[in-house]
Amino acid sequence: MKKNENRLQFLKDEIEGMKKENLFTTLPVLSTPQGARVTINGKKALTLSTNNYLGFANHPRLAAAAKKAIDKWGFGCGAVRQIAGTMEIHNEAEEMLAKYKHTEASLIFVAGIAANRGTIQVLMGEGDAIISDELNHGSIIDGVRLTKSEKKIYPHMDMTGLEKALKETQAARRRLIVTDGVFSMDGDIAPLDQIVELAEKYDAITMVDDAHGDGVLGKDGRGIVDHFNLHGRVDIDMGTLSKAFGCLGGYISGRQELRDYLINRARSFIFTTAHPPCVTAAIMEALRVVQDEPQHLKRLWDNTKFFKEGLRDLGFNIGRSQTPITPVIVGESATAQKLSRALFDHDVFVKPIVYPLVSKDTARVRNIVTAEHTQEDLQFALDVYKKVGNEMKLI
Ligand SMILES: *Cc1c(COP(=O)(O)O)cnc(C)c1O
Repeated sequence: MKKNENRLQFLKDEIEGMKKENLFTTLPVLSTPQGARVTINGKKALTLSTNNYLGFANHPRLAAAAKKAIDKWGFGCGAVRQIAGTMEIHNEAEEMLAKYKHTEASLIFVAGIAANRGTIQVLMGEGDAIISDELNHGSIIDGVRLTKSEKKIYPHMDMTGLEKALKETQAARRRLIVTDGVFSMDGDIAPLDQIVELAEKYDAITMVDDAHGDGVLGKDGRGIVDHFNLHGRVDIDMGTLSKAFGCLGGYISGRQELRDYLINRARSFIFTTAHPPCVTAAIMEALRVVQDEPQHLKRLWDNTKFFKEGLRDLGFNIGRSQTPITPVIVGESATAQKLSRALFDHDVFVKPIVYPLVSKDTARVRNIVTAEHTQEDLQFALDVYKKVGNEMKLI
């Protein structure tokens, strides 16, 4: 090969292939802070595409807490947690989180994806079995792929399938059942009470990914474990601080030995620098605000009910969602792309979700209602859906 030859030409070919299948995506760009009404790709629009459930991404108390922390701690922390980067504020935030979650201890990772990868990777190994719902999030799948453990995938939320997998893996040294709490693309809630019962019957470890339940389900947004009142019965409660809590970070909550072990062994914890203290301060403030200001959570659920009923009445297929995540399922990826473009022409921003995020025949646009939307915002979106849905003959 010549000196100046492009050795990445194959990527251009791959991208052409994605474009042909309507699977290629670019990054929409905001020129305003996050919120219900934003300027995105240069256009003012109502957005229904964020995970900013409670509106905390731009909550003044979080921003103020972060600013104060910069004055006290400076910006960066300059080292990985295990070596010299842990500040008092990191430990305080974890104690606060553990208390909020009603667990003995918590450990915060740089992001949810790091928490899933690092935790599953070190807990399970050769001779073990991981039993996983077929629609689990990509970061769980990554964690599973990093182990030498046997893998069993059970049909989505199918408790008979889960029990069958438990029976088939009786010879394993240890078993882990892992599930999303709220499934991110469909918005349905895992039957965690039944999963825990099966786990107890067959002596398996349980892990739930509460990324879309945190701040959304349970008393004061404590999540799915609280929603089902399963405190103390789920071994590993994983969640994210990046969605409803409006910050950044993933966490694991559970027993003290779980935290101690992960600090020593989880690669995605050990080999990465700690959060800037201003992020940690904002996390702590988010936990205070979610408990001090219950109006956000109430508004989130009122809005969810209103918007779901509206879309259903119009005749859209919104799947089996039980949470603010509200897909409009259209089938073909080209149709999802077209619907998204048509909505945006009318100032409603909803990103199409296509393969590999969902299967090729269930392409959709995914709406997420937040506490920041007003009833007028949602009615505006419903009117646009009606017009566009009729024009595209989707309803
Ligand atoms: C978003 C998400 C994650 C990752 O969380 P981040 O903090 O954004 O890395 C993990 N699991 C699920 C189910 C998610 O939706």
